[in-house]
Amino acid sequence: MGTRVYVQLWHQDAQRAEVLLNRVMEEMERINQLMSPYIETSAISRLNRDGASRSVVVGSELFKLVQRSLYYSERTNGAFDITFASLGNQFDYRKRVKPSEQTRQETLPLIDYHGLRLDEKEMTIGFVKPGMRVDLGGIAKGYVVDNCIELLRRHGINHAIVTAGGDSRLIGDRRGRPWMLGIRHPRGDKHVITLPLESIAISTSGDYERYFVEDGVRYHHIIDPAKGKSAREVISTTVLADRSIDADALSTSVFVLGVNKGLELINSMEGISAIIIDKRGKVHYSDDLSDPAMQKP
Ligand code: AMP
Ligand code: MG
Repeated sequence: MGTRVYVQLWHQDAQRAEVLLNRVMEEMERINQLMSPYIETSAISRLNRDGASRSVVVGSELFKLVQRSLYYSERTNGAFDITFASLGNQFDYRKRVKPSEQTRQETLPLIDYHGLRLDEKEMTIGFVKPGMRVDLGGIAKGYVVDNCIELLRRHGINHAIVTAGGDSRLIGDRRGRPWMLGIRHPRGDKHVITLPLESIAISTSGDYERYFVEDGVRYHHIIDPAKGKSAREVISTTVLADRSIDADALSTSVFVLGVNKGLELINSMEGISAIIIDKRGKVHYSDDLSDPAMQKP
């Protein structure tokens, strides 16, 4: 998936544990084959190739994930928008490639989730304009982590962690102690915040994951759909939720929305928390985490 995956679980039977680990890896690869824009035969690549000329049958899984993405587009006023890829695919962070200013201006109108045509009966998706593309990079890792957690649960696992890139979900605790998860310092390797957690999903988005710097400007992988440029107000966002799919979509969303709008959204949602590091390095917490009583030593 172009990202690091990590699984830890407890099982009395080492052989069974090994089998389950393999099942988890298979599930990750299955989703990768379906949703990777880098794999020519994936459903997402087919959609991107043909979506402007006809409606493409994508299968219920991809269809539902796009529907969930649209739900977040509506909730975030377009900050989360999988059609960012219409321009986003012109970046190559490893090769330090970015679109020209002219391309940005010409392509910007193609970033608009309203231009996706979904037919629920036929399970097809199409694009209203040629040149439109979608990419599920902001939500698919959360989806696959949830799938893996469900799989482990079905097999009776009560203590486990599944991580794909910046997305983790926990089953239970770490056998009597909480799991300790760190939020990385956006400009270093150390952790700035360590959280004791159990039975929860956590997702971190950062401008240090995929980026290059040119003339002092950091070009990174989270694109503000309104501008067609990397979002710059914050440098790290972490979201806690029951499910990884929600934590994932929201960490990317809050990154684009910035501190004020981001916290406003999170505070309006039941059971969701956020920790944001702004560009000055200041840490901001959602209301549920900034209870004054908690700050007394
Ligand atoms: P994450 O690490 O979960 O924040 O996901 C970052 C990925 O989300 C990027 O690599 C893109 O594939 C995708 N992405 C970037 N900008 C947006 C956006 N505005 N809305 C939805 N997905 C995005
Ligand atoms: Mg995300």
